[in-house]
Amino acid sequence: MEITRRDLLQKITTGGAVIAVGGAVSAATLTGIAHAEEAKLSPQAVGMLYDATRCIGCQTCVVACTKANDLTPDIRRDQLHQGPGDLNSYTKTIIKLYKSTDGKEFSYVKQQCMHCIDPACAAACMFGGLKKDAKTGAVTWNGSLCVGCRYCEIACPFNVPKFGWEGFNPKIVKCEFCKERLAKGEQPACTEVCPKKAVIFGPREELMKEAKLRIAANPGKYFENRVYGEREAGGTQVLYLSHVAFDKLGLPQPGDESVPHKYLKWQKRLYSYLVLPAGLYAVLVGSIRKNWKGHEEHMEEEEKATGLRPQL
Ligand code: SF4
Ligand code: SF4
Ligand code: SF4
Repeated sequence: MEITRRDLLQKITTGGAVIAVGGAVSAATLTGIAHAEEAKLSPQAVGMLYDATRCIGCQTCVVACTKANDLTPDIRRDQLHQGPGDLNSYTKTIIKLYKSTDGKEFSYVKQQCMHCIDPACAAACMFGGLKKDAKTGAVTWNGSLCVGCRYCEIACPFNVPKFGWEGFNPKIVKCEFCKERLAKGEQPACTEVCPKKAVIFGPREELMKEAKLRIAANPGKYFENRVYGEREAGGTQVLYLSHVAFDKLGLPQPGDESVPHKYLKWQKRLYSYLVLPAGLYAVLVGSIRKNWKGHEEHMEEEEKATGLRPQL
């Protein structure tokens, strides 16, 4: 029987909410972790390779993404990025500009969901609102299961999902790898239109080979001669090559271990000391509060730098 958002809300708002939520967190964390341990991409897993050395910042990909996803174009601009400074609930991808202070080094960078091999957003969602497709590996959102708790936003190591406040129903906005296009055998809108083939689509395995061939053919051209996304947060299906240091492009350094895998270790420790699920829930709430504070600080910095309040 399919569980609807209404069923879920009823369960939470009726008696024993704290116990129910505490239990749900433990169960969901366990499910996410079990999934993490088995995380293996299918041979059909798709990928996207973005090569910053080829991107001219034309934003054709952003326009195509907006059209393909029927989004309201985000027309806000800031001086540096010539577009929104961060992902928001109006856009599933953005192109940002990095410029060094002496102006000698610059690069564009495309930002969207990384489609993690072991996605923290899906592990954090208590209700299965985010799911990794078993075949393509695309991480997609199901509006009928989402209760708008925003745990996915906080859990994501790449700061990707954004909450749409408009309207009655909560809405999480993030790139879903153009799932409708993939289902029809088409490639994503952004990769289809790029005039420089700076962002390309294909099986992840093939794209990884292609990225390594480019590195081998151009010694010293690419930062650290490595592919971002090969290992980050347990590996991602979106891969990057860049001539500029990845952190300068705003690509986070989450380490090689996936977030759900990290939680597995902590959970094993907690359970070995017979800590009750309520205790675990308290730890998670503490961690979420801490992350949320960081999130707020980031938004204030963005607002100071750009004069624009980022949309969550
Ligand atoms: S369409 Fe291609 S070249 Fe233009 S901004 Fe997007 S990735 Fe860069
Ligand atoms: S980048 Fe964030 S939103 Fe995308 S799959 Fe990974 S954890 Fe989920
Ligand atoms: S895959 Fe689709 S939704 Fe994701 S950034 Fe590209 S065009 Fe946008």
